Amino acid sequence: MSPPATIFADEEAVRPTHVEVDLTTLAENLAAIRTHVAGAKVMTILKANAYGHGLVPVAQHMVRCGADYLGVAFLEEGILLRREGITTPILVLGGIAGEQIPLFLKYNLTLTAPSVEKLRLIDEVASMLGERARVHLKVDTGMERIGIHYYNAETLLEAALSCQHVEVEGIFSHFANADAEDLGHARLQVERFQEVLSFYERRSLPTPMRHMANSAGILQLPESHFDLVRPGILLYGVYPSQECLRTITVKPALTWKSRVAYFKVVQAGHPVSYGSTWQSDHPVRMITVPVGYGDGYFRALSSKSEVIVRGQRYPVVGRVCMDQLMVNLEQGTAYNGDEVVLLGSSGGQCISAEEIASWAGTIPYEVLTNINTRVPRLYRSEDA
Ligand SMILES: *Cc1c(COP(=O)(O)O)cnc(C)c1O
Repeated sequence: MSPPATIFADEEAVRPTHVEVDLTTLAENLAAIRTHVAGAKVMTILKANAYGHGLVPVAQHMVRCGADYLGVAFLEEGILLRREGITTPILVLGGIAGEQIPLFLKYNLTLTAPSVEKLRLIDEVASMLGERARVHLKVDTGMERIGIHYYNAETLLEAALSCQHVEVEGIFSHFANADAEDLGHARLQVERFQEVLSFYERRSLPTPMRHMANSAGILQLPESHFDLVRPGILLYGVYPSQECLRTITVKPALTWKSRVAYFKVVQAGHPVSYGSTWQSDHPVRMITVPVGYGDGYFRALSSKSEVIVRGQRYPVVGRVCMDQLMVNLEQGTAYNGDEVVLLGSSGGQCISAEEIASWAGTIPYEVLTNINTRVPRLYRSEDA
């Protein structure tokens, strides 16, 4: 396994199409979340290449900013961070395959135990290797993804008591719709989780670290903060949904940019791009930008989205190609090499992940995580 390729050696050599991540903004977002959740610890969620922001640099920065725990989706993400020298605790949130357990132990990664069967397997493997596995028990309170159902959870909590080679450090659950306006289901999930947790009190046992809140839970459900919170999207400065209360102020940290690669005038009636789906009835000025769906700029944005050039918004016209797209300037001006902002703010204009999501018929999460790793990431901070 090798870390994701870095295409650029320095800023001189960077591809015109690149992402800029503002580390200062990420630090401010983390600080704002921390203030809001008062005593709770923070597990920064770094799955999917840190929501497109770049796994390793963002993880290193979060560690510098004092993140208490890191959360990733699968084993390989955790191993990559350990190989980069990160020693902060890392929880792998997703399900595990039995044969992966030795690697979790080797790299000191915290496992999610979503069933009695998996827990016993972890215990067995740890016993065989003469190690102790650190696990967080996963309770399904109404998501039906992974985790023992809340109505059977006592069997898992009970089983954990007899596992000699497992340290149950945490216990957690996950919301299905804490970002909704109607929080009925989310509140029911919190109640179910609390009912499961009462096991420890009834048995006079110490309660493991309890956690439930994703970004939406952090924003809308203070009763879900427990001992630790798990912000993902909010850390990156994006709100989980339109309806979700904005009880914390955060700012987007990512800007996706390119440059004008070509300029021309397109005559009336001359169609643009694959499928000849768009044409003008009068001559227009047009630029070609070297970014496409191969970079994660959705093809669904064809003739739907806008970009910012010289402080003006202009429409993308015709089909988005794999590596290029065309923008109609009408009578506007741009020169080869001019900056084109696809996502982010420039010259008083802003194109948000939410706006791109609405054009493409998806959610801002997918807009961010879809930015391909072939797009270089540059990191800026105020003190750099
Ligand atoms: C992705 C994820 C999160 C973070 O979700 P956001 O909505 O991005 O805050 C938290 N917990 C689990 C288990 C997740 O899978």
